[in-house]
Amino acid sequence: MIHLSAVRYSVVIPVYNEEEVIHETYGRLKNVMDSTGASYELLFVNDGSRDRTAELILGIGEKDPSVTLIQFSRNFGHQVAITAGMDYAKGEAVIVIDADLQDPPELMLEMIAKWKEGYDVVYAKRSERKGESLFKRQTASIFYRVLKRMTEIDIPLDTGDFRLLDRKVCDEMKRLPEKNRYVRGLVSWVGFRQTAVEYVRDERYAGESKYPLKKMLKLSMDGMTSFSSKPLKAAGIMGILIAAAGFIYLLVVLIEKWFTDVTVPGWSSLIALQILFSGCILMFLGVIGEYLGRIYDEVKQRPLYIVSAVYSKKPEDQQVLRR
Ligand code: UDP
Ligand code: MG
Repeated sequence: MIHLSAVRYSVVIPVYNEEEVIHETYGRLKNVMDSTGASYELLFVNDGSRDRTAELILGIGEKDPSVTLIQFSRNFGHQVAITAGMDYAKGEAVIVIDADLQDPPELMLEMIAKWKEGYDVVYAKRSERKGESLFKRQTASIFYRVLKRMTEIDIPLDTGDFRLLDRKVCDEMKRLPEKNRYVRGLVSWVGFRQTAVEYVRDERYAGESKYPLKKMLKLSMDGMTSFSSKPLKAAGIMGILIAAAGFIYLLVVLIEKWFTDVTVPGWSSLIALQILFSGCILMFLGVIGEYLGRIYDEVKQRPLYIVSAVYSKKPEDQQVLRR
């Protein structure tokens, strides 16, 4: 497919209440992108910020036509914001980067170099994470490893969404309409030639993480449920094991009754087992519920996001678009 594009690089930056970092982030991104000597666009996707983030980006956009602001009508979440950025990006290569400078913009040059070597996806692998709590590092590490064991596709360990996608990968991503998105998994699923560059994840430049535990849990559940149906199967396997144990125990009880005179007092053990198994049943109902809820989200066919406005000095962008 011949692709005629006016821009070489699109940088997608999801922002949610990032007023403290916008200027610094813009400065660093601009420096790096200017040094490539090629044309580029900076696509800020404002994911329903309640602070001055939009205002600040608009101010920057007034002076710099490479800046585009995509406004969401409310907070739709990081993964959706990235998706919107990919939908709007026009570049031959699309780079997704966090706004808080935890992902060093300078690494984009290494990614671009790999892309020029012929790779279609260049993801950034964290060799070390600075300034994040032990809890966050540990839970993230465990999550990536569990997910790896549970899925058939190879999702690289310790990578976030900081990555470069070739135009053709980005176009394929647009064909994936699922609602509860785990973007890094989808990129692996799409395939093509993929490679990694390693980096040390810095501390956040300013402000606080916009990923509280609740959002982290949602993301990890999306990762699991989108790429594995093993949790559903686990219920079946556990059921078989418990039924088998129950059957053996039944035999034991019968043998005791017929051939010995042991009487079994056992109210408290009964209750304990009862609670244990009720707990297991509820847990697996919960697992089914997670999948069911996601199926429900798909069936409703709501758009993934709503863009309230696009601000850009490029004339073709001066309209309100919906997906
Ligand atoms: N973000 C977003 N929507 C959200 C939460 C976060 O667009 O609902 C953006 C945020 O502005 C940042 C990126 O996603 O650019 C990563 O968020 P953050 O740095 O807070 O996550 P962490 O690095 O702590 O995991
Ligand atoms: Mg961060």
